[in-house]
Amino acid sequence: MNSDDNAHAVEDFAVRAEAWLAANVPTRWREHRGALSNTEADEFRREWDRQLSAGGFAGLGLPKEFGGQGLGLAEEVVFHVLAAKAQAPDGLARVGKILTAPMLVSHGTEAQRAKYLPKILSGEEVWCQGFSEPGAGSDLAGVSTIARKTEGGYLISGRKTWTSFVQHASRCLVLAQTDRGAPRYKNLGMFLVDMNQPGVLVNDIKQISGAVHFAEVQFEDTFVAEDDRVGEEGDGWAIAMKVLTDERGGTETATRYVEIRADMDLLLASCAGRPELAGELEDLDIRTELLRWQLSKVVDLESGHGSEFWRAVSILKVLWSELWQDVARLGLRAMVPGDREHWRNQYLESKAVSIYSGTNEIQRNIISERVLRLPR
Ligand SMILES: Cc1cc2nc3c(=O)[nH]c(=O)nc-3n(C[C@H](O)[C@H](O)[C@H](O)COP(=O)(O)OP(=O)(O)OC[C@H]3O[C@@H](n4cnc5c(N)ncnc54)[C@H](O)[C@@H]3O)c2cc1C
Repeated sequence: MNSDDNAHAVEDFAVRAEAWLAANVPTRWREHRGALSNTEADEFRREWDRQLSAGGFAGLGLPKEFGGQGLGLAEEVVFHVLAAKAQAPDGLARVGKILTAPMLVSHGTEAQRAKYLPKILSGEEVWCQGFSEPGAGSDLAGVSTIARKTEGGYLISGRKTWTSFVQHASRCLVLAQTDRGAPRYKNLGMFLVDMNQPGVLVNDIKQISGAVHFAEVQFEDTFVAEDDRVGEEGDGWAIAMKVLTDERGGTETATRYVEIRADMDLLLASCAGRPELAGELEDLDIRTELLRWQLSKVVDLESGHGSEFWRAVSILKVLWSELWQDVARLGLRAMVPGDREHWRNQYLESKAVSIYSGTNEIQRNIISERVLRLPR
């Protein structure tokens, strides 16, 4: 396809997606989201995963032979932008779709793909990501959870923390040591663990905003079959890096851009005529548009998948997370009477975004060492 055909294909997709979203985003979610109980909200989110699948909008970037739609990053970004504008629910299947599925395509066996991909894409199975531990977050290679060999598989023991979606998950992607004696980075394996079995204990963690997005998970001799190890023993670190790169890709930026733009428009409207805030508002407004530009640059670079693409992707997470925090901070400081609850919530929720998927300090280390090749 030449670039004109490509642009037309993306436009056609956008028209189809916009019409589908207009017909399918539940009115109750769009108009009364804040009044829903957590249980009701979760049911909307679970149902949304099923709707996406039925409508042909699940696994947009996944190759067709694996049950996906075989589209590119441009369509994925367009869909995320339109879904955020339509105020669609965020599904619960994020870890399965964004992390597990592409990992199984690149590193899984035929049997693993056949067993797991259909249920991930249909929204039937929710996954969580068991990487971080109380003693290993930024230093992920230091995980101490161990997978000991047993007949037919492994027994997993250890503590994972900050595990998002675990309350809904039936499967977990677990990074664990397979060989205590092997050198660092060569001593890890990646496992697909069934969470509905004895030896899995989940303790909720409440966030500063009052939400409960994650929990601590204790594995006590939890069985995982040999067939559910991804790659070989010792491949865990390389696979974890692939998973983390997918996690930091462009699609979350698309959603965040729309949310930040909406917050900026709210701020600009409510603070018009306040000269003391004018300079800061203009600065944040420019940064919001720079984010949009950077996102479109990533999409343009995708076909190359070269170093320029990864350079741009690495920078996105730092850009949007710090911008959202700064917008929320100004929103709180502006003290607009009717908007206080909104800004309080945004301020507290935005605290987490410079931490998850790797903290911004770690992102900056990656950008300086691996993208800019600066000396240590
Ligand atoms: C909302 C949310 C959801 C999450 N969901 C998941 C999940 O589903 N699964 C999962 O596995 N994890 C999840 N995490 C965990 C997240 O990946 C970790 O919190 C993150 O990697 C940081 O690890 P840590 O908390 O152990 O902090 P630490 O690694 O202890 O870091 C503490 C501070 O030291 C700084 N620091 C550490 N090392 C360096 C260095 N080399 N250079 C410069 N600064 C450094 C960090 O930037 C940070 O400011 C989630 C976190 C949040 C906030």
